[in-house]
Amino acid sequence: MRTLPNLWFEPKLWLNGAWTDSEQQREIVNPATSEPLASVALADAPTLATAASNAAQRQPNWQSVSPFERGEILKRTAALLLARKDDFSRIITLEQGKPISQSAAEVEYAAGFFQWFGEEARRLSGRISSHPDRSREFRIEPRAVGVSALITPWNFPLAQGAKKIAAALAAGCTAIWKPSELTPLTALAVAPLLAHAGLPSGVVQILPATGPDALEALVGNPEIRHVSLTGSTATGKSVMQRAATSLQRVSLELGGNAPFIVLNDADLALAADHLVRLKLLVSGQVCVTANRILVHEAIHRPFLDALATRLASASVGDGLAPETDAGPLIHHQACHRIAALRENAVANGATLITENLTHSQHNHLRNGSFSAPTILDNVPDHATTAQTEIFGPLFCVAPFKNVQEAIERSNKTSSGLAGYVYGNNHSHALAVATSLEVGIVGINEWRPLKPEIPFGGIKESGIGVEGGHEGIHDFLTTHVISTPKPAFPALP
Ligand code: NAD
Repeated sequence: MRTLPNLWFEPKLWLNGAWTDSEQQREIVNPATSEPLASVALADAPTLATAASNAAQRQPNWQSVSPFERGEILKRTAALLLARKDDFSRIITLEQGKPISQSAAEVEYAAGFFQWFGEEARRLSGRISSHPDRSREFRIEPRAVGVSALITPWNFPLAQGAKKIAAALAAGCTAIWKPSELTPLTALAVAPLLAHAGLPSGVVQILPATGPDALEALVGNPEIRHVSLTGSTATGKSVMQRAATSLQRVSLELGGNAPFIVLNDADLALAADHLVRLKLLVSGQVCVTANRILVHEAIHRPFLDALATRLASASVGDGLAPETDAGPLIHHQACHRIAALRENAVANGATLITENLTHSQHNHLRNGSFSAPTILDNVPDHATTAQTEIFGPLFCVAPFKNVQEAIERSNKTSSGLAGYVYGNNHSHALAVATSLEVGIVGINEWRPLKPEIPFGGIKESGIGVEGGHEGIHDFLTTHVISTPKPAFPALP
């Protein structure tokens, strides 16, 4: 069995600064082998309600800690994460499945958010303004929104939490982090680091949980003033409805359906290389991954050849093997879902170009939840793969005749998260990128997300942004005090 490193945390609830057990347990499984890794405690509804009350009690003290000191704690957390990069990488790979190099990149990315918001905390400041009739003065200050529930998915078990915790703490919010029930170990491993960095007990509680009852103890709970969710669009809609019962603020980072447009003047080898890297990142289980690959008809065939050649060099396997480029999907149901999507595309007229696992390789990996990276061509816009988020390693290619058509087809979706444009004429590519109805576009760039850059979706891909200067805004409200304008004595 591929085991976890020596643990510096317990697979229990991190409740009010102490490890707390629970009757409810969940077995966490390595998706590459289906072997059990650990049994983890799950919080029930009363425990989550208690956590909300704990956080509400801690809120006034934490928001009165100076932004400078809050920032120092965050920067120390970043350093502690980096010091444990190898151990975190191993835990992420074991419970999530992604290749170890991708896990290491995730640790660095997550540490970047602690560093970034550690620096941003000291930039929080208000202003003094006066009424035009000069009668009064206004002290206008940003203030923490209050207790925040941070609900995260399994695809980036560390980074999705880091983005939210770092921004929440910088703003002065106490937080309850509810990681995905599929990948709670990585989240729990962060708790001792926060404590070691100097975070007062109970300011962040980390509570794996699942099921509607438990989740309703967070969403709609009047002691929690803000729910920040990263997850599917369906979950986002249900959270928003439930949050309305107590008018909680909601921030939603939801699903995508990104177009990847290859223009007729693109560097085909570069576009193929970037596309394979993008689609094999977490085996395609990424909100910003390319969903619809639209290729100009003039270069359609040579691009498919370049793509097939590049994909053939990618290695699928256990993420712990250093040569692995693509790990397993999160569980077996995800593989069945991808197989059904592939069948649906073919039934709708798509052609299978290649798949990157031979029968014997597949057999060798049969215990894990592996899905062969596959290229499909001529995938029609009405096929389910074009209409929904694939979340797996299917490369769905379709040719287009002219740029206007590519833009219209790209925008014909309820999602609006990310897009990609490949072309060598910069102003042409920029014009196409500008026309895409999404939150972020990469031009000749497959990984545009950085801690320094705001990122969020439009349409059904979400509300609010994370990262950048803007990433702290959802954790803040504006507080105003109106005072009489001081009367200065007349100067002699
Ligand atoms: P999910 O929506 O099933 O679960 C996400 C989280 O929400 C989990 O912690 C889950 O326990 C919780 N949850 C589920 N139902 C809930 C409810 N009714 N109320 C409150 N919480 C609930 O998503 P997932 O399968 O874990 O992750 C994949 C999805 O996340 C994809 O759609 C992907 O695009 C999206 N995602 C978006 C971004 C982004 O930044 N926009 C980033 C990563 C993943």
